[in-house]
Amino acid sequence: MSRTYDVFVAGGSIAGLTFASEAAKLGLNVLVAEEHPEVGEPEKCDGLVSLRGLRKYGYPPGAGVIQDRVDSAVLHSPSGKTFTVDAEGLEVVVLDRSAYDKQVSAAAEAAGASVMTGRRAGEATETGDSVTVNAGDEEVKAKFLVDATGPASSPKHGILPAAKYEVEGDWIREHVVEVFLDAGKYPGFFAWVIPFGEHKAKVGAAGRGVSPFKALDGFLEGRSTTVLRRVAAPIYIGGPAQSFVRGRRIYVGESAGQVKPTTAGGILTSLAGAATAARWVSSSIHEGRPSLLAGYQKEWEGEFVKEMKAMLRLRGAFEKLSNQDLDGVFSVLAASKMTQKLSQTDFDFHATALLGALGMPGLLKIAGLVASAEVRSLLLER
Ligand SMILES: Cc1cc2nc3c(=O)[nH]c(=O)nc-3n(C[C@H](O)[C@H](O)[C@H](O)COP(=O)(O)OP(=O)(O)OC[C@H]3O[C@@H](n4cnc5c(N)ncnc54)[C@H](O)[C@@H]3O)c2cc1C
Repeated sequence: MSRTYDVFVAGGSIAGLTFASEAAKLGLNVLVAEEHPEVGEPEKCDGLVSLRGLRKYGYPPGAGVIQDRVDSAVLHSPSGKTFTVDAEGLEVVVLDRSAYDKQVSAAAEAAGASVMTGRRAGEATETGDSVTVNAGDEEVKAKFLVDATGPASSPKHGILPAAKYEVEGDWIREHVVEVFLDAGKYPGFFAWVIPFGEHKAKVGAAGRGVSPFKALDGFLEGRSTTVLRRVAAPIYIGGPAQSFVRGRRIYVGESAGQVKPTTAGGILTSLAGAATAARWVSSSIHEGRPSLLAGYQKEWEGEFVKEMKAMLRLRGAFEKLSNQDLDGVFSVLAASKMTQKLSQTDFDFHATALLGALGMPGLLKIAGLVASAEVRSLLLER
């Protein structure tokens, strides 16, 4: 049996479902295939996101989707120095990602898209003006294939294994996100605590060349904790892919590398990518002009590329800092008016905000502290 659609979407998570919803609203005939039997499951994401961003680029969360609000973020240096950002004005919340994905799936179906679960998208063959995708026991023909399969297709150099537990414990601070930096324990990344209710948190750890489960178990040692759920899932920190469109394949979300290289947060940038792609694919199909697809990458980059470059620059410097350097950076941040400045900026554009708030004097101060010449040139780059 063979069915024909305007677009076949592989992957039914936020990027695939947002694409489907927006494309269906624009009159396209869309089929989504999600390999798992239930949308949103198994849940891997912590759901930390700004409401401001969701209002601008995606769907505001419906009833029961927000699990918690975040009032502040506390960063811990290796020697125990802390740096606190007041987040009350930043509108940051913690989502139940499974519930949010189901909300977006319902929106896609209400707009006319078909969502089939328990169906893995397999091999795809392009012929002339269509692409044929193997989807289990049937072949589906479409004008375009949207790859929204997440880390399965994202550029391999940017993948980092991560471990995440949902836990209960008295030590969890209400409405406070905590980030723990240590170049020995979590090289190139960090351990994190994201609250999602009274004494409940999503905790995780990742680092280059370390076992994330060992790192997370080490973090929890001495913190009296009940583990409710364990998840192993890769995070992506490599920056946007070079091309979002290859032939009749269009990459959206994490498969296009639309993820923040600093924190691996990808909800917002992926939603924005998917919604942007839907508009350009729709124009391209309605006007019969495949060349219009190039507008998708141009528009997404116009919005995010400056921030992504700043994030990659910060990541490049961060990855080379020793624990002593990190402690020094905390001293500079604490001495400046950084706390106040960051509490008035934008959660989703935090790298340009941080670099702007530090300014050349702050960057010079940090550059003067670190041993590596490479880090100094990254920091002082113009
Ligand atoms: C532990 C962890 C914590 C995170 N925390 C946050 C956070 O707090 N805030 C934030 O902004 N981001 C966070 N992220 C990142 C965020 O989850 C992703 O960037 C975002 O989900 C990307 O959405 P996506 O739709 O592109 O891909 P994904 O959400 O990865 O979805 C891909 C989908 O494709 C399906 N699939 C894969 N292959 C196939 C196939 N062949 N056929 C059919 N279906 C297929 C998968 O089952 C999945 O449903 C976190 C990620 C991890 C791993």
